[in-house]
Amino acid sequence: MTAETADVVVIGAGVSGLACARELSARGFGVVVVEARPAIGGRVRTLRTGLAGPVELGAQVVHPAHCDAFDALLREARITTAPMETAAGFTVVSEGAHHDSTALAARVRPLPWAAEAGLYSSRPLSGTVDRALSGLVPPARALARSWMEQVVGHDPALLDLAETAASYHGRGRGGERVVVDGFDRVVHALAGGLEIRTGSPVERLRRGAGGVEVATASAVIRARAAVVTPPPPVVAAGDLVLDPPLPRSKIEAAGVLASCDAVAVVLVTAVPAARSRSFLLVDPPGGLWTRRAGSRLTTGHVKGPSARLVRRPGWESDLIGSLSSHLGAVDDVLVMDWGRDPWSRGAYSVPVAGAGAASATWAEPLGGTVFFAGEASAAPGLRGLVQGALAGGRRAAAEVALNLSGGPHDQRTGRDA
Ligand SMILES: Cc1cc2nc3c(=O)[nH]c(=O)nc-3n(C[C@H](O)[C@H](O)[C@H](O)COP(=O)(O)OP(=O)(O)OC[C@H]3O[C@@H](n4cnc5c(N)ncnc54)[C@H](O)[C@@H]3O)c2cc1C
Repeated sequence: MTAETADVVVIGAGVSGLACARELSARGFGVVVVEARPAIGGRVRTLRTGLAGPVELGAQVVHPAHCDAFDALLREARITTAPMETAAGFTVVSEGAHHDSTALAARVRPLPWAAEAGLYSSRPLSGTVDRALSGLVPPARALARSWMEQVVGHDPALLDLAETAASYHGRGRGGERVVVDGFDRVVHALAGGLEIRTGSPVERLRRGAGGVEVATASAVIRARAAVVTPPPPVVAAGDLVLDPPLPRSKIEAAGVLASCDAVAVVLVTAVPAARSRSFLLVDPPGGLWTRRAGSRLTTGHVKGPSARLVRRPGWESDLIGSLSSHLGAVDDVLVMDWGRDPWSRGAYSVPVAGAGAASATWAEPLGGTVFFAGEASAAPGLRGLVQGALAGGRRAAAEVALNLSGGPHDQRTGRDA
């Protein structure tokens, strides 16, 4: 066991922790980043198979959300983005039948994406998304429910319509992009020059009047402040023990900010796709799937309650059977289960009732020594996104800097004055 010192310990080397550490380093603080996993990046996970370009198992879309710091990072690090390729064809697979969206438009009104847009212009924006969809006639309602579950990532019966609309409007519409060389370019651009300890889960964070003690299996780091960036469900699960424990308000906030379930799957087919096509699978195991012309990879994310179906015996046969006419032989199936990953416990925070208030509570510092960042601490519109993680990290860095420089701090509330 080694004993060390630093000005600030940042827990977690995802986008938020790295953005926070980078900002604090730039302001002259001695920072150590401590990361549980063997690699940095957190919920940004880019896979390189050698069969095609980079495949994103975590964050994949750069939403046109307003975040100047993110845009500046892309420019500085010369990271190229490109408009997200929209597959020319879209197929809905339901009850064993394949419906091309153009043909479906004659029978189903509105189509799921039009139903989604209609939700956000409806008034009043109250109740759940499921309730707002209840006026649709079958099968439009069932398709819209499946779509919302996969696009937003959660059970529509639990999605709050006002929070979902705020999130949708905040992240901007149209202009979704991808990072050409892989989203992990963003992570590596943030990490340059930082002191990062990977493979070192923080087991205990003790806070006292004058600072903190951060303990891993092999080291105790004493510092003036710590920044907690793991997702709220990970912190609330207690693998990282806070001493004194989290106040009740934060535990309740973590409950509201529970991340949605999600599993990422990559199918490696024997033969490359002849043309690009996307699929909304209403049949088990569900999910949104994409095949790109010339690629042997079919990628999909199964989110919300459907993610459980990807853990059921025989799910691969269900999936391959549903898409067989498009796939041909499948050589390999790769899976990243975010819901079962102990360092994520889900994909991202979702717009359920009370999410806005809970994220403000989660972001509040404790006693001027422990600060909170991460996507779940961001404002609606950025919450859940990479830009939200970055903004949350920078906000926490500014709070730490103000405290450590002796700036005004309200000891009663723990908030910066
Ligand atoms: C399937 C999926 C799809 C997504 N799609 C998009 C998208 O298209 N666009 C978009 O903008 N966003 C998307 N996101 C969300 C985006 O990935 C996250 O918002 C963002 O990466 C979160 O960054 P973070 O730093 O807040 O958290 P994380 O990336 O989770 O970082 C927290 C870090 O803390 C570490 N940690 C946990 N516990 C400990 C411990 N005890 N000690 C030390 N370290 C610990 C973790 O290993 C992790 O590295 C998606 C996420 C998933 C999973």
